[in-house]
Amino acid sequence: MKLTGIKEVANIGAGTMGHAIALQFAMNGYQVNVYDREEEGLQRGQKLIQHDLQTFVKAGVIDENPEQVLSRLTYTTDLKTACQNANFVIESIVENEKIKKSVWSEIEKIVSESAILATNTSGLSPTALQSVLQYPERFVVAHFWNPAQLMPLVEVVPGEKTNQETVDTTVELMNKIGKHAVPLKKEALGFVGNRIQLAVLREAFHIINQGIASPEAVDDIIKYSLGRRWNLVGPVASADLGGLDVFKNISSYLYADLANETGTDPALAKKVSQNKLGLKTGKGFYDWQGDTGKEIVKKRDQKLLEQLKTDQK
Ligand code: NAD
Repeated sequence: MKLTGIKEVANIGAGTMGHAIALQFAMNGYQVNVYDREEEGLQRGQKLIQHDLQTFVKAGVIDENPEQVLSRLTYTTDLKTACQNANFVIESIVENEKIKKSVWSEIEKIVSESAILATNTSGLSPTALQSVLQYPERFVVAHFWNPAQLMPLVEVVPGEKTNQETVDTTVELMNKIGKHAVPLKKEALGFVGNRIQLAVLREAFHIINQGIASPEAVDDIIKYSLGRRWNLVGPVASADLGGLDVFKNISSYLYADLANETGTDPALAKKVSQNKLGLKTGKGFYDWQGDTGKEIVKKRDQKLLEQLKTDQK
């Protein structure tokens, strides 16, 4: 399937990720059929779409009349209605391999043979998921980042049977709807973003546990150094700029001292056993009483919105 063949999108799952992805397609001219298995989930998704669209309108991110955008979205709890004319299906349902496989098998019975089938799984193997399909070559991961209406990255990850055209068209499509798509050469657990995020977290928790620095200090150190720099020049190019001989020397004494836990992270296991789950239970590494969490998220999203406007220029 080529980009020009994609006219209609089926968006499966209207939760945190699905609603935002559906809006992104509709804002960029695509007819989107939003499906959720529950009426309640569908209505919640519809409200979230309207809310996010209003935020974009207020911020001046879109020029089009919002009613026009909304007119491209239809809502249904019937999988057939959602998928029968779709050329691209994007799925954001519960992260469960068995359930995803069963839903994809159902979808394949409905869609045309040429439609591209994309999953927004956080880390399930595309090779495993595509194993239930009759035409697995058109199956791919399109991994968005939360909040998907504000974060530009989409990792496009092929399974063993995915063909190059599926990857290429998905990359083009993601870029067309205003995202920044990056294809991987092959699948890996956690893809790339989460591999790097977890490597950083393992070391951050180790530093806190060893009493080297507080959570606040770790966060400040990253925000005011690597966070700033990596937003402009990624870690690999930064190493090139700094001189690979310098990084080689640092690695020679530092690698052996870094956290190298395998299995569940002990710091996380301890917090979870104490029901310190972070914002949702009021305590994690930080104390989240009151509205602090909400305020941080609001401020973060405002900055992401401003960045999005800058990207558009
Ligand atoms: P969510 O719970 O907010 O939404 C899931 C939606 O799918 C719900 O509306 C639910 O009713 C619906 N659903 C569940 N089972 C279904 C089924 N069998 N058929 C149809 N609809 C069904 O979840 P989410 O956070 O949006 O995550 C969805 C997917 O996106 C998961 O695979 C997740 O790993 C992935 N993802 C999540 C994030 C994140 O930060 N939340 C980031 C990237 C990818």
